[in-house]
Amino acid sequence: MSDRLIEFADTKERGHLPPSGDTLRYTGPKASILETIGETPVVRLNNIGPDHVQLYAKLEAFNPMGSVKDRLALAVIEAAERSGALRPGQTVIEATSGNTGIGLAMVCAQKGYPLVVVMAESFSLERRKLLRFLGAKVVLTSAAERGTGMFRMAERLAETHGWFLCRQFENEVNADIHAATTAREILDDFSGDGLDYWVTGFGTGGTLKGVAKSLKQESPRTKVVLVEPENSQILGSGIPQLRRPDGAAARSHPNARAHPVQGWSPDFVPKLAGDALDDGLIDVFQPVRGADALQVTQDLARKEGIFCGVSGGATVAAALDVAAGAPAGSTILAMIPDTGDRYLSTPLFDHIDVDMSEEERAIAASAPAPNKKMPPSGKTSPAPISETARAFIGDVIDDPSEPVVLFGFEWCEFCWSVRRLFSDANIPFRSIDVDSAEFRENDRGGDILRALFDHTKMRTVPQVFVGGTLVGGATEVLIASRQGNLAERLAELPDPIVPAGTKEPLDYLPSWTKRPAVNTPADDLQGKRT
Ligand code: PMP
Repeated sequence: MSDRLIEFADTKERGHLPPSGDTLRYTGPKASILETIGETPVVRLNNIGPDHVQLYAKLEAFNPMGSVKDRLALAVIEAAERSGALRPGQTVIEATSGNTGIGLAMVCAQKGYPLVVVMAESFSLERRKLLRFLGAKVVLTSAAERGTGMFRMAERLAETHGWFLCRQFENEVNADIHAATTAREILDDFSGDGLDYWVTGFGTGGTLKGVAKSLKQESPRTKVVLVEPENSQILGSGIPQLRRPDGAAARSHPNARAHPVQGWSPDFVPKLAGDALDDGLIDVFQPVRGADALQVTQDLARKEGIFCGVSGGATVAAALDVAAGAPAGSTILAMIPDTGDRYLSTPLFDHIDVDMSEEERAIAASAPAPNKKMPPSGKTSPAPISETARAFIGDVIDDPSEPVVLFGFEWCEFCWSVRRLFSDANIPFRSIDVDSAEFRENDRGGDILRALFDHTKMRTVPQVFVGGTLVGGATEVLIASRQGNLAERLAELPDPIVPAGTKEPLDYLPSWTKRPAVNTPADDLQGKRT
């Protein structure tokens, strides 16, 4: 994670001109994705915040899986490998609101460990999908049981199966990696004029404890500002957290409430966050309102081009409060822990529409397309249709060994709708994909398509036949499935097919068709030739 960057000064000789004429930092090939963790940039915020201070943000989204937790994921796994707590091929398990799981999924994928992530059902759907895409298993716990419920479930599973539990909330490695990397990077970046305020929230408290400890030692002038949701101040409340002998929280903290900052302030004070308090590492407690967190997250996107999650907006919102009362010339750094694209299904995007607004419709209408009807050129005559192609169509649709046939394009979304319905319903079918490599020679696919259009007098794909007769395009097939006519036709075949039950057939259509753009004629939605 360190010592990777090498100065690459004489770029001109290599034929690359650095964008600003400054020294380019060239990093060379990495041994694996894991070497790209850390060394995230600190950037100046220029368009939000008062003029009398210098406001900066450290962008943890630059980690390979887009969050600060990649650091912990690698550190926990490698520490366990070194200590022998994790054996080759052993399953790794963790309770996580998502980002730790996503980081662990990357590390486990690279190193070959199976991973089980335990997550409350209230965290965003994108996170579940991302984790599963990366090969992890996701076990959901009820939202009502909150963070403690997730953790108990992970413990039970680890004990039952002998899996390696990461214990991010208590594991000292979590704080140590931030002392060794995150804090080091911050100290290096502010080695010139120094740093007056460092602003962070906490999830596990790993960032808080690790960075604050190093700052206290190496930059004692830096004030550590701890941000909590205004309606769920647990660390700043002074009310102690009940703990088990191993340090884990014994129950929810009495001040904990639901709040909109995912990844922050669970319903208990984690041991690492509690340590930071007990060790006197926190100088200022700065509450932040949920609505302000969401607003500043959007301001960062629109005014700074910084796309981050709600905890980043919350931290910067608190940094703005700090800035308002800070002496002129102060330097303030806010942590931005992750990227924004895993919040699409959360309140952050609630007011962002997928349909065109009035203003956008007006833009669309402001440059009308030329009349679609092309003047007849008189020069082109329709391409001929070969007898072979006509015979091919007849042979395929009348073939009793494959009575269900779909003519279409390989990657056409409407063709996929029907293919997915057929495979979910266990209906065996033949797909003639006229644009596939198989039919490319001498435009055989085009010839077959023209023969098909001429045969059915229909000019869209897919076209689906059952027992030699046309059922129709995608929408007709899905409606036939919904209304039972498809099942009737399949039952009448010499070798009858009984389809299995599926989800609502029209839900197989591409999702955008359910929200047609203005002026999209209904029949355009049936089957596209693109
Ligand atoms: N923001 C987000 C989005 C997170 O997922 C986390 C970690 N849960 C944090 C902030 C806090 O990081 P830490 O665990 O180091 O306190």
